[in-house]
Amino acid sequence: MSKYLADRVASMGTTIFTEMSRLAAEYKAVNLGQAFPDWPGHAAAKETARQAIALDLNQYAITFGVPSLRQAIAEHSRRFYNMDVDTNSEVTVVNGCTEAIFSAMLGLTNPGDEIILFEPFYDSYLPAVEFAGGIPRVITLHAPDWHFDEAELRAAFGPRTKAILINTPHNPTGKLFRRSELEMIADLCQQHDVIAVTDEVYEHIVFDGNEHIRLATLPGMWERTITLSSAGKSFSLTGWKVGWAIAPSDLSLAVRRTHQFATFATAAPLQEGIAVALRSDDGYYRHLAADYQERRDFLLAALDRAGLPPIQPHGTYFIMADISDLPFEDDVAFCRWLVSQGGVAAIPPTAFYVNKQAGRHLVRFCFCKQWETLQAAAERLAALDFPSGRRGAGDRRS
Ligand code: GLN
Repeated sequence: MSKYLADRVASMGTTIFTEMSRLAAEYKAVNLGQAFPDWPGHAAAKETARQAIALDLNQYAITFGVPSLRQAIAEHSRRFYNMDVDTNSEVTVVNGCTEAIFSAMLGLTNPGDEIILFEPFYDSYLPAVEFAGGIPRVITLHAPDWHFDEAELRAAFGPRTKAILINTPHNPTGKLFRRSELEMIADLCQQHDVIAVTDEVYEHIVFDGNEHIRLATLPGMWERTITLSSAGKSFSLTGWKVGWAIAPSDLSLAVRRTHQFATFATAAPLQEGIAVALRSDDGYYRHLAADYQERRDFLLAALDRAGLPPIQPHGTYFIMADISDLPFEDDVAFCRWLVSQGGVAAIPPTAFYVNKQAGRHLVRFCFCKQWETLQAAAERLAALDFPSGRRGAGDRRS
């Protein structure tokens, strides 16, 4: 390791996604690990971006986003959530939701402020909190229904609490936070004067007639919520890294002040493309969810047949499966075996936990893949020949 690295990064490894994609390539495995759709992105978005480049919309965008995209984000909020937002002061375009989380954390947190997170959490959350000097307070979502303990959450709120980070629909569990859970969070935020930061990038990938609820629409929450989302998942354009923050003007400033010096602005022609994509008709959004639901059902059945009992997700493009009864030390050992011996890459979810014990009997698979890819994965899963031996990861239950 380099002696030049700052303390804040010295003990970090490479992200689990990069690591597993490298192993997937090395073993020529079917990659159900790092989640990115392996089909073409939104056609009109691509065409619009191509035209924008040809028309030479190639200089810096306004730091908080091009007018057409901020307008489209406001229309989308009205259409799906009945929210009215001001395009000048309440919408900020950034380089994907990961930047939005960093910008929000850096813009809100003073050293020593506490930030509440639910684990498992998307892997960038913890560095975002820590880089900002925040102290993470972690609440565990418990498998298989991903509930949290109300008393534990109440106890986490205190005088030092600055913000709570909520991801719904939730990566990696597929949990949709229920209205009653969001109401409890909303009450606590109001009692303790805490800001909510919500990551809603899977807002359009919701199954079985369930409803995604935007926390900012609950009574008293608009004033204290920064709602984050992005284009990657809704339009199969994860490489474009176009995201946004919606918040009242004083909270939008938290994001804008960091964003202006971190990246200044987001790629101008891509923003024009996303402005068009967001205005897709209802059929587009319905089809997206229905199509993902079919793929989910296919992978659920394949995992079940393979002896990897899956936990049914209500949203996102992830499935967690339970490996308690298999003879592996933990999720990392299982994923190493699966990629090298089984030819399928998955993600060991302990990368998303502070309390590793709570996640070592689980493994995350994604299903944002073409049917041929999913079929190839299903065949390989069906052919798995688990080593014999003592129960491993499941020992947590004894
Ligand atoms: N969001 C993707 C996932 O959860 C990974 C993105 C990345 O590689 N940083 O798989």
